[in-house]
Amino acid sequence: MNTKPHQRKVYWNEPTMTWWERVYLFEILRGLGITGGVFLRNMWRWTTGRKGALTTYYPEETRADYAAGNRGKHILTQRPDGTPQCIACNMCATVCPAQVIEIDAAFDPDDPAHPKSPSRFEIDYSRCVFCGLCVEACPEDAIRMVKEVPELPSADREHMWLRMDELLTWNPQSDVAKPYPPKGGTVKTRGNA
Ligand code: SF4
Ligand code: SF4
Repeated sequence: MNTKPHQRKVYWNEPTMTWWERVYLFEILRGLGITGGVFLRNMWRWTTGRKGALTTYYPEETRADYAAGNRGKHILTQRPDGTPQCIACNMCATVCPAQVIEIDAAFDPDDPAHPKSPSRFEIDYSRCVFCGLCVEACPEDAIRMVKEVPELPSADREHMWLRMDELLTWNPQSDVAKPYPPKGGTVKTRGNA
């Protein structure tokens, strides 16, 4: 028969409370004081014509202080001639957990460096979870997420599709991911390098 006394497991974040906190009443009063203070401060600012709480009246107002790494709106990067860097490989659409990327591929035999490209590239923002996996999966650095957020609010789900013309509004000239030769140029191979 096991006579060993039971020992409770000690968790790393087990709270240690002082007697003051164990009484609870004082802590409740302290919490009410903090909440009331913030409420009165914001009300005072609001009644004197200033903005109180850090509230953005979205969608009429949008924030300008998004962090540089914010996963906001998608963009498609472009080659120097303005065509998309995307090679319509479908890897982003395959990895997307919400399955919201739809791509139709086009083929151009006169462009040996970049024969395949998207003729249609659309993202359904009504279901995108902004996880960034599409950006991670892309082998061409052809899709990125910029910090600005997309125009999401709409009464019509059809308006929540981000289409290629909007995805291609980024000016790539100073940051081309891969220096592809211009259309019609020759591709360097081991043989002719
Ligand atoms: S951010 Fe995530 S959910 Fe949205 S399109 Fe990319 S992979 Fe899909
Ligand atoms: S964006 Fe990238 S991963 Fe998606 S189809 Fe284009 S090249 Fe492939």
